[in-house]
Amino acid sequence: MLGVHDITISFEGRPLLERVSLALDAGEIVALLGPSGSGKSTLLRIIAGLIVPEGGTVEIDGADCTHVPTHRRSVGMVFQDEQLFPHLSVGANVAFGLKMAGMAARERRRRSDDMLELVGLGGFGDRQVGRLSGGEAKRVALARSLAPTPKVLLLDEPLTGLDRELHDRLADEVAAILRATGTTAIWVTHDAAEAAAVADRIVRLGAGTSS
Ligand code: ADP
Ligand code: MG
Repeated sequence: MLGVHDITISFEGRPLLERVSLALDAGEIVALLGPSGSGKSTLLRIIAGLIVPEGGTVEIDGADCTHVPTHRRSVGMVFQDEQLFPHLSVGANVAFGLKMAGMAARERRRRSDDMLELVGLGGFGDRQVGRLSGGEAKRVALARSLAPTPKVLLLDEPLTGLDRELHDRLADEVAAILRATGTTAIWVTHDAAEAAAVADRIVRLGAGTSS
């Protein structure tokens, strides 16, 4: 479903990623594990199309999309800080990508409600995002990213910074939701225990080196 081949990029003359390759089968969850500064977020941005690599290719569902813009890649992203739209309701946040894709209002509403059910927030559609707890905001971010049925979901340290109890509960729940929906996902973390808990397979990225 995802093929990353020989990705190379450097910043200010210093190589960050050198010929990094990675392949994911459909429905597979891979944890990308590496210390801070090893290039994890940069690799995700390249897969998402937010950065063009100096070398290498990105293939999604069999098609070379190295030069395809982000919005046409069918890639979803979840960030550490959820980056919800503060002026939109929970439901409008979840429906955002669907609106961008041109889905009709009634269908958006139904899909958004279904996604909120999926993440355990049935009936939250009309709430303001500013009033959500930390765990609820994570679930909304997940629902928003899954709503357009992306071919690949990229999670960049989605649970970093949560207290231990909430962290462990959400790790189990989010992994279960990804499996239930058959989502192909790269889950970035610097936490080896988190990687082992959520992923089918762990790929390590060394500090400033290739893998
Ligand atoms: P990680 O997510 O593993 O912590 P990042 O991919 O965020 O690592 O970044 C790795 C390093 O690459 C950073 O420490 C920084 O030095 C460098 N870097 C990333 N993006 C840029 C940029 N746009 N300009 C200059 N340097 C960058
Ligand atoms: Mg990072």
